[in-house]
Amino acid sequence: MSEKVQKTEQEWKAELTPEQYRVLREKGTERAFTGEYHASKEPGVYRCAGCGAELFSSETKYESGTGWPSFWDPASQDAVETERDWKMLVPRTEVHCAACGGHLGHVFSDGPHPTGLRYCINSAALELEPDSDE
Ligand SMILES: [Zn+2]
Repeated sequence: MSEKVQKTEQEWKAELTPEQYRVLREKGTERAFTGEYHASKEPGVYRCAGCGAELFSSETKYESGTGWPSFWDPASQDAVETERDWKMLVPRTEVHCAACGGHLGHVFSDGPHPTGLRYCINSAALELEPDSDE
């Protein structure tokens, strides 16, 4: 396992945009259809907006119609970690970056094959690194 990224809230605040900070550090959720990547079909690697870790690939991104970027699998099994979120009446599974702990979104079990999972991720938590043509 790689080293965990540890920063103070002050450091995060200085590095992130207010929207990124709200999502990654305060577990906020951006409004549906407002994020940069919800409809993006550009091939590339989605990295953590907080620490740059590789989280998702455009190859597992699909159109869920929810207004948030949706993936059926993370880039690798140890890229993200999950935790039960009891904030709502019906518990949800929260997803965060394994490297820096930044909140990404939630995972639901109504996704497509082969995993049946839907990683519902905030655009603000992601940074797309487009595939180069080289
Ligand atoms: Zn991260």
